[in-house]
Amino acid sequence: MDLATITADIERVVVTSEEIQTRITELARSVEADYADKNLLVIGILKGAVMTMADFVRALNIHIEMDWMAVSSYGSGTKSSGVVRIIKDLDRDITGRDVLIVEDIVDTGLTLSWLRANLESRGAKSVEILTMLRKPEAAKVEVDVKYVGFDIPTEFVVGYGLDYDEKYRNLDFIGVLAKKVYA
Ligand code: 5GP
Repeated sequence: MDLATITADIERVVVTSEEIQTRITELARSVEADYADKNLLVIGILKGAVMTMADFVRALNIHIEMDWMAVSSYGSGTKSSGVVRIIKDLDRDITGRDVLIVEDIVDTGLTLSWLRANLESRGAKSVEILTMLRKPEAAKVEVDVKYVGFDIPTEFVVGYGLDYDEKYRNLDFIGVLAKKVYA
């Protein structure tokens, strides 16, 4: 097994590694400006947002705190179940905190609208969302995403934290998975 064998499963590159890093820097400048005098708590959603979170927080030139949550979404298939379950909860109380959720992708928006309501119900002062990717379907749902990396077509993508059956997360770019892999 080598890199060429893995990338042969990718039908088309959607966002290159360079494009991701450039966009992350732009997003970091916006977030810095919006939270300059606040004590921001950045919450990464495991496991998909690990790469976005790691690069994004390193690009931030303000004090922040980090926490993580894990919620179930797709299981090992490629269709959204709409059922959200907390697998790992936050380590701390978020009452009165300005919170920024960092997600990998918004598809139906079901996961994020549930997450936002959940964090608001715990008494957070503000809850905003940053997502690396957004699919068109998300526009139909009442979920206000303040910071978006890239709008992409409705196709199943992997890489940069996103998996298919736990694989492909370690690619440094985002691409469409060839249908032969899961057909
Ligand atoms: P939503 O609730 O917005 O439909 O789904 C959000 C979650 O579904 C994401 O956090 C991600 O885990 C998964 N997801 C949605 N679209 C894709 C995709 O194209 N590729 C991968 N790997 N996961 C996806």
